[in-house]
Amino acid sequence: MTTVRTGTDTDTDTDAQLKELAEQAGRDLEDASAQEILQWAADTFGRRFCVTSSMEDAVVAHLASRALPGVDVVFLDTGYHFPETIGTRDAVEAVMDVNVITLTPRQTVAEQDAEYGPKLHDRNPDLCCALRKVAPLEQGLTAYRAWATGLRRDESPTRANTPVVGWDAKRRKVKVSPIARWTQDDVDAYVSEHGVLTNPLLMDGYPSVGCAPCTRRVLEGEDARAGRWAGSAKTECGLHG
Ligand code: SF4
Repeated sequence: MTTVRTGTDTDTDTDAQLKELAEQAGRDLEDASAQEILQWAADTFGRRFCVTSSMEDAVVAHLASRALPGVDVVFLDTGYHFPETIGTRDAVEAVMDVNVITLTPRQTVAEQDAEYGPKLHDRNPDLCCALRKVAPLEQGLTAYRAWATGLRRDESPTRANTPVVGWDAKRRKVKVSPIARWTQDDVDAYVSEHGVLTNPLLMDGYPSVGCAPCTRRVLEGEDARAGRWAGSAKTECGLHG
């Protein structure tokens, strides 16, 4: 599938104008449905809007494809993913009306090991995430003016104030979080109603799926993200900071 970039009015907006637009939309759309929020993003930014997906599930990609068929779905292939995550990416690409774009880091894992030593994720996960997630995403998002994420307020205290539409000052983009107000039950209901693809690891003790070296199964009663960077103070990869 090819990617066609079409101009929108927002192409010529300044950062200040886009920020104002985002903040106003955040207020106006706070009570809107996820589908309405994504329709606003699709109508406002057209092909300059994308969805990012960790391939934990394809819920936001599915919602976005209804608003903008063929929408770009950006996936960061860190080189450390579980095979199930890559399989989910391939299935999404095969069966959904989306254009999957896979971003890879500047270095392969072997090249990174040669420069920084093996298992950088164990010794300096912030640097590893910066090299393998943050930098590729920043480069990959340059073609867009707005991006959507699957962040939810109930996932962790650091995400409790996520706006449904806000200004991402770090990347100078409009950031759309259409399911910010959803609960896990809402996600499960949408998956079930629409037969949305999900990562098989979700049914195998991993309610949150990241890179294999930094993700473990969660125990009974633990927070959904407790298996991410377990044993360290790290809770986020830097993509949403
Ligand atoms: Fe590296 Fe772990 Fe971050 Fe993946 S989650 S980029 S393996 S530190």
